[in-house]
Amino acid sequence: MYLFENFFNDIFNIKSVIMALITVGLIAIMMVMTYLVAQRTARLSRTRTFILEIIEALVVVGGVLLLRQTFWVLNGGSVMSWGYAIAQLMILLYSMYAMQTLAVTLVNLAMPLVFYGQTVRLGASTQYWWVFMLTMAVLFGVIAYISQHQALVLKSEWRFLLIQFLYGGAWCLIIWSTHPYHLFYAINVLVVFIAYMWIIRFFVTRVNHVISHFASLDQAANYDELTGVRNRANFDTTTVGVFGVYRQHPTMPITMAMFDIDHFKNFNDNYGHLAGDAVLKHVAQLFNQELTTQTSHGELFRYGGEEFVIIFENIPPLDAQNEVTAIRNTLQKSPVTINGNKLTVTVSIGISELQPTDVDFDSWFKRVDHYLYLSKEAGRDRITVEGKTQKL
Ligand code: GH3
Ligand code: MG
Ligand code: MG
Repeated sequence: MYLFENFFNDIFNIKSVIMALITVGLIAIMMVMTYLVAQRTARLSRTRTFILEIIEALVVVGGVLLLRQTFWVLNGGSVMSWGYAIAQLMILLYSMYAMQTLAVTLVNLAMPLVFYGQTVRLGASTQYWWVFMLTMAVLFGVIAYISQHQALVLKSEWRFLLIQFLYGGAWCLIIWSTHPYHLFYAINVLVVFIAYMWIIRFFVTRVNHVISHFASLDQAANYDELTGVRNRANFDTTTVGVFGVYRQHPTMPITMAMFDIDHFKNFNDNYGHLAGDAVLKHVAQLFNQELTTQTSHGELFRYGGEEFVIIFENIPPLDAQNEVTAIRNTLQKSPVTINGNKLTVTVSIGISELQPTDVDFDSWFKRVDHYLYLSKEAGRDRITVEGKTQKL
């Protein structure tokens, strides 16, 4: 009975209340961060997303250190407490469910090693090193499983329970391997830990729900429903950004390409509106896919109807011409099949670089539009780069 009393006193005291408040605060901060990062990553480059993920991982590490430091002070220079251990585990495990990134998984993997190293350095015996090694293997397995199946673990109650049990249990044994304690505590710790994590699961699923709702709103607002490429609204906000970049780096070439499907009306008239839609989808998706594999990082937008725009940052017009022509050639080789007919689609293109003399976006846009018009006028299936028209 005295064991239970010890445990009870250890968990329920003013220090634990302070620790609990800090833990809840940290979890709230991570929740908000996850939400903000998810909002951003929809539009960020891979490098920037990576940096954000590293920052997330640093927040987790910072949180764990803050918790340790606070407890160290509260407890007169000792970190031996179950309440403290539970708080740490909650932060670590929560971060994996909420953030779902490699960096956070690595933090979770590194933490037991850091713990063991530090405890041994402070004088703990390495007598049970083999218990540590065996438990580490289990913990690695559990962490790897969570990182691959977060959504599934959160959704299925028995999986969640089992994972909490294994994760908490493994940590209890890791702690035991440096400070052999009565295993009765482990049972209590597990019960409290699992109960708390159950509450957290409720909040994580709520937050994930809000995030996915936001992602679908973002998709609807910025991407074209039919073709899946960026839409006109997205184009309007992007061009404002492009102008800002140009002002900061006036020597950086920024090129716009505009293309329009030739005689598109014929597809609608001869095969029906749905066939027209299929042609639009085919062209947009082919361009989008080819652009993502190219190093130019050109961004494709559906400007309206069967007219598309590509913005190339840091690419001069001749390079943009090569990129676009290459995609156009791929398009020639991949006809759309409609009612068993193989239909070849051609496009007319206009290309121009943003000039220092362009007072606003409109003057640049009008020039590109005019070049596209010249390509149409010259007989379609043509490209006009800075006023010079060529057959494709
Ligand atoms: P040009 O070579 O001069 O570009 O001729 P065109 O027939 O391609 O151009 P026009 O502007 O005469 O016709 C474009 C047609 O595209 C008219 C419009 O009904 C059709 N269209 C616009 N948006 C969509 C769409 O989302 N789906 C389908 N199926 N048709 C669309
Ligand atoms: Mg057309
Ligand atoms: Mg048109």
